Amino acid sequence: MSALAPRFKKLIRQDVQSMHAYAVQESAGMVKLDAMENPHRLPAALQAHLGQRLGALALNRYPDGRVNDLRRALADYAQMPEGFDIMLGNGSDELISLLAMACDVEGGSILAPLPGFVMYGMSAQLQGLKFIGVPLTADFELDEAAMLTAIAEHQPSIIYLAYPNNPTANLWDDAVIEKIIAAAPGLVVLDEAYQPFSSKSYIDRLAGHSHVLLMRTLSKFGLAGVRLGYMMGPKALIAEIDKVRPPYNISVLNYECALFALEHRDVFAGQAQDLVAQRAMLFEALAAMHGVKAWKSDANMILIRVPDASKTFEGMKARGVLVKNVSKMHVLLANCLRLTVGTADENTQMLAALRESL
Ligand code: PMP
Repeated sequence: MSALAPRFKKLIRQDVQSMHAYAVQESAGMVKLDAMENPHRLPAALQAHLGQRLGALALNRYPDGRVNDLRRALADYAQMPEGFDIMLGNGSDELISLLAMACDVEGGSILAPLPGFVMYGMSAQLQGLKFIGVPLTADFELDEAAMLTAIAEHQPSIIYLAYPNNPTANLWDDAVIEKIIAAAPGLVVLDEAYQPFSSKSYIDRLAGHSHVLLMRTLSKFGLAGVRLGYMMGPKALIAEIDKVRPPYNISVLNYECALFALEHRDVFAGQAQDLVAQRAMLFEALAAMHGVKAWKSDANMILIRVPDASKTFEGMKARGVLVKNVSKMHVLLANCLRLTVGTADENTQMLAALRESL
């Protein structure tokens, strides 16, 4: 890469210049198990049907009121409670950025347990907000005392709880969540990106709270390529946050694909069910593998610890299997790899590559 000319060095923010861009691994031709995508494509008949629908769209026009059809369809799908509203983002990544922008108050901060999803910290940093990362316990549970102390000390504007968490794939203790919500001086966001594979959701408990938002995405559902995230919260709060959303952030193609997917939600539910079954088989195989420690998962990924993560990661890659080496993300993740649950075939290849690369 060529060096940045001196006159641009003064132009681009110093903190941005010292950042690393969000890394997307090269994956052409590999068994791709690094990003928690749904490995199943749309059945061929539905692909043809969707193609016709997209072909008939008026791409010369800006997105129109049909985006509200999608908001209603998602609210219905998620069983959003009365008095709540829903806003859409270009993936939940965009919603995380917009939320930081909307809550950029003097001295504000964002708090989340670590290890966790990197965008929480990145959104804070880009907005010039402080990020408070509170380490989980060694077995990846919320450290109740540490969380409550950090909340009391920093009075964060936003607390993120990914439910289940990425990359540890577990849910949190309900009683601890309630204590965090009760102690929060600002907003609490339950990020349910992995809801299609989870045994629990916070949606039924939303109605009792005026400062809790629930974020979801269609990415893990099976539309990672479409980019569609949504966030539900009390109406008045969503109305304010929605003001920072760029106009037309959801393209005509995005909302039509998302509406189509919701009309065929049973197909996606079937795929999720298959992945949950695959996860159980994968977990059993991993738990029985000598030298591997695997953690129980409520998502479409399994976190494992191996004797030497770099060696195993590279060995798997050389055998055509791409997973995520998360061992440098946080001290608690030393020698950990994150494996996305794939199809039966992919999982078999992955297990063979893992076994040979330990
Ligand atoms: N939240 C969590 C916890 C995630 O792990 C991810 C992506 N891996 C996201 C949000 C972002 O999802 P999206 O594709 O909707 O931007």
